[in-house]
Amino acid sequence: MAYLTLKDINKIYPNGFHAVHDFNLEIERGEFIIFVGPSGCGKSTTLRMIAGLEDISKGDFNIDGVRANDKGPRERGIAMVFQSYALYPHLSVYDNMAFGLSLQGVDEEVIEEKVLKTAKILGLTDYLDRKPRALSGGQRQRVAVGRAIIRKVDIFLMDEPLSNLDAKQRVTMRSEITQIHRETKATTIYVTHDQIEAMTMADRIVVMKAGYIQQVGSPFELYFKPVNMFVAGFIGEPPMNFINGKIENGQFVSGQISIDASKSLAKDKVDAYEGKEIVMGFRPEAIKLLNEETASSGYKMDCVVELTELLGDNTNVYAKLGDVNTVLKVEPLDTPEEDKEWSFAIPYESVYWFDKTTENIIEQKDVQE
Ligand code: ATP
Repeated sequence: MAYLTLKDINKIYPNGFHAVHDFNLEIERGEFIIFVGPSGCGKSTTLRMIAGLEDISKGDFNIDGVRANDKGPRERGIAMVFQSYALYPHLSVYDNMAFGLSLQGVDEEVIEEKVLKTAKILGLTDYLDRKPRALSGGQRQRVAVGRAIIRKVDIFLMDEPLSNLDAKQRVTMRSEITQIHRETKATTIYVTHDQIEAMTMADRIVVMKAGYIQQVGSPFELYFKPVNMFVAGFIGEPPMNFINGKIENGQFVSGQISIDASKSLAKDKVDAYEGKEIVMGFRPEAIKLLNEETASSGYKMDCVVELTELLGDNTNVYAKLGDVNTVLKVEPLDTPEEDKEWSFAIPYESVYWFDKTTENIIEQKDVQE
């Protein structure tokens, strides 16, 4: 049996707002799970229900096979780091980290040993005498993490712990948190709206939208096998390109674009969508420079390049494909000229097809050429 089970969990706030709908998830011991989704999708609410800070309106939450709905936060064996990590301003880094253990009446020597060990893991050894105001944002965040991990807990919850940090600090803290997870092996649930954090840190990601789970899977699964347009557009940066069109006589038609749909969509699906609206998707980084080989194994596309953005390791190309705005990724040396026509290829196997009405992926077996 899974370590944490959430079965048909719902949250209806006292004002009647239904924030989380039928949330189902099983979490194994030691897993690093990330809830991701846009603002207001119910990530924090779900995390707070797990923490015991918010009542569960409907459904069952079990920890190690025991119902925990009615257990208080302290009885759940959980430590939590919040977005606003309020440290005690008048206490030193050492005392901030030691505080919880002192309250529990832990022996001073044991406290010292734990504080020093935790400080070492987090690179805070040289700052133990400082007050929080004399620390950088990243260092304060580490103290907050230290304060949480210093207690031996089985479950570690984090709500946007990196949101107050600058880009560089985020990258550092991302790998530190991954490292801490490896060392503590605590089951971790981490909330963020940043898909890069989710992709780089999680064992499994839960993508949420408007209170509903959209998909649960490994970063690899979410990237390569998104179940719908929302997940496809949310995971990946820049996001997947979508082209609305129709199947007409087996061709996918959208403005001036007219391509043989059966090269990337199973024949029975092409037939099923004949005369109907359909959405073609492809990732910016999936495109290939046009040559004989790529032209024979993919769709040749003609676009007008509007803007190019050299990012160092690659260039983002903003281009109009007919009247559709797209973003394409190329190697810096392959950057096309702005305000010019340009052609590229989309490999058949990199094309995703979605139902226009449901926005769900059109499942298909490998397409025969
Ligand atoms: P963010 O990334 O902005 O923190 P989130 O995905 O964590 O968003 P929640 O904080 O879980 O979202 O909120 C989910 C929804 O529930 C939002 O629409 C929010 O306005 C609503 N909500 C949150 N707290 C309450 C409350 N106490 N009463 C009523 N509605 C609430």
